[in-house]
Amino acid sequence: MDLDTILNKPLDGHLLTEEEAAHLLRLPPGQFGPVFEAADRLNQSINGRRVSYVFNRNINFTNACTAACAFCAYRAEPGDADAFILTPEEVVEHAGRTPGIDEVCMVGGLNPQVTLDHICSLFAAVRDAYPEVHIHALSPMEVQYYGERAGLTVRETFEKLLDAGYGSLCGTAAEILVDEVRRDICPAKLSTDRWVEIVRTAHAMGIRSTSTMLFGHIETPRHVARHLAVLRDLQAETGGFTEFIPLPFVPYRTPLGRAGRVTEMVSKERALAVHAVARLFFGRLMPNLQISWCKLGIKTALEGLACGVNDLGGTLLEEHITRRAGGRHGQAMMPDAMADAIRRAGRVPVRRDTLYHYLDAPVRNG
Ligand code: SF4
Repeated sequence: MDLDTILNKPLDGHLLTEEEAAHLLRLPPGQFGPVFEAADRLNQSINGRRVSYVFNRNINFTNACTAACAFCAYRAEPGDADAFILTPEEVVEHAGRTPGIDEVCMVGGLNPQVTLDHICSLFAAVRDAYPEVHIHALSPMEVQYYGERAGLTVRETFEKLLDAGYGSLCGTAAEILVDEVRRDICPAKLSTDRWVEIVRTAHAMGIRSTSTMLFGHIETPRHVARHLAVLRDLQAETGGFTEFIPLPFVPYRTPLGRAGRVTEMVSKERALAVHAVARLFFGRLMPNLQISWCKLGIKTALEGLACGVNDLGGTLLEEHITRRAGGRHGQAMMPDAMADAIRRAGRVPVRRDTLYHYLDAPVRNG
């Protein structure tokens, strides 16, 4: 395959094929320069030099989980001494720790001691205390788990959540949307088709979601290309994804790491290549591409801004999931630090809300 021909396609408004995406991902080290440049050109043609971030706080409402995903260092066994379930009062206290946040991001685990009613009481408490704060919460896996245990359909589950103040769906639990990979690293999780079905239902109800991919473990370039294609097809159908977030796997204290199957994080170059290929593969269908500063570090995240990335994600303030896996890049960044970092990279910082409305720029985008 001719590299220039592939790289010019997205810039000319044509979609890359899965084979072309996999081909780009298989380039040898040191060969990604033209891929980064093409992704940067495409991003700047969509987003200019703006780089956004969201002032948010993560709140994990429980850490107990009956699943045992091979990449997870966060979960505790239900009943363990360190297992917890937050009350509505505690969630409100967490949400109030940093005045002025625009979003709370609330996920937990699959805890048989937590009910859908309890989750709704958490959301309602946040909504009542901080009505201006957007509640971005629950993965499709959690929607299925808590909804089924309440005897509700997916649609009924979302309706109940919306009544409690729910704002948008986390596009996590996606890992790699290829069932042969899922059977290996997360056998207790929902299938690819079911993940798509739940997200499609959310989008049909007007509930937006993010989209994610966990990479840098046992997957191959073919799996990554398939994952991107699943997301692109759904985005072409619904337009409901706000963004795509590649999440490099942090292996150190996870079952995959302890078993010696994955001992190191993906290299910086490979991580940036995944972001760049994603930008090129989605073309104009997915305007927003986020990089995870808490997994890669702010220095690498800023390098990503020249590889097709236009969003630094959240301030997080209370990040535990990556830290427990052995993440080494911090758990919080305040908005001023985010904005300063973006300026240092020669880009224009823009604070946004969950749904990508710009909050402090002269031009709103939504
Ligand atoms: S990734 Fe989520 S579902 Fe899997 S073990 Fe961890 S908390 Fe449970």
